[in-house]
Amino acid sequence: MNQEQRAASNEKCDPASTKAQQVTNNSSWTIEDSKQLYGVEGWGEPYFSVNEAGNITVSPQYPSSEVTIDLYELVQSLQKRNIGLPLLIRFSEILSDRIARLVACMQTAIAKYNYSGIYQGVFPVKCNQNRHLVEDLVRYGKPYNFGLEVGSKPELMIALAALETEPDGDYQPLLICNGYKDREYIETALLATKLGQKIIIVIEQPQELDLAWEISQKLAIKPILGVRAKLNTQGSGRWGTSTGDRAKFGLTIPQIVDVVNKLKTTGMRDCLQLLHFHIGSQISSIAVIKNAIREASQIYVQLAKTTGNMQYIDVGGGLAVDYDGSKSNFPASKNYNMQNYANDIVAQLKDACDMGQVSHPIIISESGRAIASHQSVLVFDILSANQVSVTTPQPLQESEHLIIRNLWEAYNSIDLNNYQETYNDAIQFREEAFNLFNLGYFSLTERARAEKLYWACCCKIAQIIHNINQSHPEQRNYIPDELKDLEQIMASIYYANLSIFQSIPDSWAINQLFPLMPIHRLQEKPIARGIIADLTCDSDGKLDTFINLRDTKPVLELHPLNQQPYYLGMFLVGAYQETMGNLHNLFGDTNLVHIQATTKGYRIKYVVKGDTVREVLNHVQYNSEDLRETMRCRTEIALQNNRLSLEEAQKLLQNYESSLSSYTYLKNS
Ligand SMILES: *Cc1c(COP(=O)(O)O)cnc(C)c1O
Repeated sequence: MNQEQRAASNEKCDPASTKAQQVTNNSSWTIEDSKQLYGVEGWGEPYFSVNEAGNITVSPQYPSSEVTIDLYELVQSLQKRNIGLPLLIRFSEILSDRIARLVACMQTAIAKYNYSGIYQGVFPVKCNQNRHLVEDLVRYGKPYNFGLEVGSKPELMIALAALETEPDGDYQPLLICNGYKDREYIETALLATKLGQKIIIVIEQPQELDLAWEISQKLAIKPILGVRAKLNTQGSGRWGTSTGDRAKFGLTIPQIVDVVNKLKTTGMRDCLQLLHFHIGSQISSIAVIKNAIREASQIYVQLAKTTGNMQYIDVGGGLAVDYDGSKSNFPASKNYNMQNYANDIVAQLKDACDMGQVSHPIIISESGRAIASHQSVLVFDILSANQVSVTTPQPLQESEHLIIRNLWEAYNSIDLNNYQETYNDAIQFREEAFNLFNLGYFSLTERARAEKLYWACCCKIAQIIHNINQSHPEQRNYIPDELKDLEQIMASIYYANLSIFQSIPDSWAINQLFPLMPIHRLQEKPIARGIIADLTCDSDGKLDTFINLRDTKPVLELHPLNQQPYYLGMFLVGAYQETMGNLHNLFGDTNLVHIQATTKGYRIKYVVKGDTVREVLNHVQYNSEDLRETMRCRTEIALQNNRLSLEEAQKLLQNYESSLSSYTYLKNS
């Protein structure tokens, strides 16, 4: 059954709620239960929690770990300032804390293993190129000499402007140039070194070396070069193919040997100072990271010995985020913490360098996801839900058709022992009802009656399954597969004021999971089960897989809608989602605010208004002036033909005009 069919059948029930259950369970439900249900501690610590009022809180940690912001109150106060939903909220200080944590882990590892090099991180701009974010990042990174990594010419231009220079000062952040490069890219990077910036050009393609050599001769500027190695170590998960011979990026070992020989013959041997590798993003298993660093360390040692001026090893990105909080090697998780990651890198490098008798290099990492994810929260409202209600079917009339009688009997006989068999019967009776209808032997009312009875059966069965899940989890495996989907089939659809394609593209494109939960009413038991449908007219615009400690779950526990607005938060969305989003159905960028934590609470630092209809139309080459003029001409003709009144014409044109300047999402009126 598809969503449309489900939406059409208004006979719904909530498998989790019989009236009695509702009363007893609700009184004993606590915010601790909510925290556990949604796994807040697993994915949210130390930034997100739940307060006494049952609202999500945000503790950006800096300037003080005491500062907590009530997310629900924040959203309400933003709405009073006319900043509507959906809304992306950035908590800038979380960024600062993420950088500080990564640096601290690296420094702890360096001290622990007596490593003599230092750590100098860079942030990969592609992870989130938005100006306010990059500027914050540069500012927060300053005490740690944190730099930037770029993978294209536009990103290079961002980084050149964003990183301040202090040619003779202590602040010497690195600018790592990855990605495919043309003449202009390399020339710009080389010339910018004259501004005092420390720029390293990483050779990703053999021909880039020739280009770099030629340009550096012409400009008489000596480059600092790196090579990106294709490791043999296999990555894992989605980005597993970022390594190996068939990887898109980097040089194979024979190609690296060629580069070294070329550098020797051109007298540029000492220009090669860095070895880079990147085995993919969201590496869930520490074993994969260990293997990669082991191989890369050996390459580094060999290069250091042959070229004589190696200084840096750049371990790329890959440091994962625990989206489901399970601390496992599921794709949405990771089976290690930041300190394990740092320890493994430092320990392996030290061993290899000591054995090969080369000095310990400066360690660079390009963590994007691990730095940028936590600071953004997407908050959206629910417009409506095809809400569930347990309605008992009307009693059977003597005269009713045999099929109806069969369904009625099935409905009345369902129990723990026969629920699977009865489920199959009900399906068959409903099929027969459809056939009778198609052949003209069943009226619309009879068909409606049959469908209602069928849904009543499903509801009863779903309640039985729900009770097994709740009270006897050990028996879960005995639930027949065909019935496991019933909970999802019976779930309510919550219609969200949101475009998944714009705001969480990875959820659609690569089935990535993000923590999702209500940001208020958490002192109340969420007795409904729902999936989320977005505003787009695309059946892929939905969320029907949710994080869970064991595996995933097909429905999300939600609260029945009441008279108040209902807000959901999607967390850890700060990496990759923003610029990869698209204009499906012409839903544009959402509103965006930057919240700065202060000891007194918070301050709204920046507001970036989301796209207006005019802006998205412009994007697909419609000029709003032309559109308006076309509409004006149409109304004139209609007026002449007496098809509408002057007042109606004015109203239509005013609406058209005001829609052009409004937000692309729905207004909560
Ligand atoms: C994407 C990318 C990164 C960032 O990876 P994360 O897993 O987000 O940390 C780092 N380096 C390179 C070369 C990349 O392409």
